[in-house]
Amino acid sequence: MVRVGVDDTRPGLQAMTAAELVRASKAILLDFDGPVCGVFAGRPASAVASQLRRLLADRGLGPMAEFAPNRDPLKLLSWIGEHHPQHAGAVDDALTAEETRAVESAKPTAHADVVIKAAVRTGRPVAIVSNNSGAAISRYLALHGLADEIALIVGRAYADPGRLKPHPWAVEQAVQGLDVRADDCVLIGDSVADMQASRVAGVRAIGFSKGDFRGPALTEAGAEAVIDDMGTVEAALEQT
Ligand SMILES: [Mg+2]
Repeated sequence: MVRVGVDDTRPGLQAMTAAELVRASKAILLDFDGPVCGVFAGRPASAVASQLRRLLADRGLGPMAEFAPNRDPLKLLSWIGEHHPQHAGAVDDALTAEETRAVESAKPTAHADVVIKAAVRTGRPVAIVSNNSGAAISRYLALHGLADEIALIVGRAYADPGRLKPHPWAVEQAVQGLDVRADDCVLIGDSVADMQASRVAGVRAIGFSKGDFRGPALTEAGAEAVIDDMGTVEAALEQT
């Protein structure tokens, strides 16, 4: 486990290691792309973004779409939501179809499956809290025999990219859906947006950084601890 820092700016919070945060939790929220799998391992995100840009060109938005982000399909969806919201539904539909195809060749993150199973075994419901589509997440979980282990899937709000993380909507939905207190939950995510959404929702957060370069940014954004291996979470759960 790598522990690069502790957020001590919130009153009343003691510095805790990732293992302590996991053991103290009553429910676990997992970001999908990163902690559970690499969604675009087999079908690159840049190819998906190109597909979406073609769709925009077909709808007469080609010249405008030159200003849209190139490689990240979720950023492109956000751009559409901001500048051409009347097309957000069509883009979301196309992205959902692409993601649902992409998860068939997604790369499972090491130890993610055993983390999910150990959480359930130790009485902690697991929710997926993601900017990806719920349909794609469901498909992945079914393909990997994990559907029955997951208590709740919160994918992105349809055609409403303003509610993508860092907006706290998805985290708040998970807390309400699991019927737990926010501060009894720990979220594990690999992006700054995950940490920011958790912080606003009052959920404790662990950063997952497979490369070490993201750790400081995750800490800065509110991660109380940073791990580089999901096996750390499994080991903590096995000790409860
Ligand atoms: Mg992620």
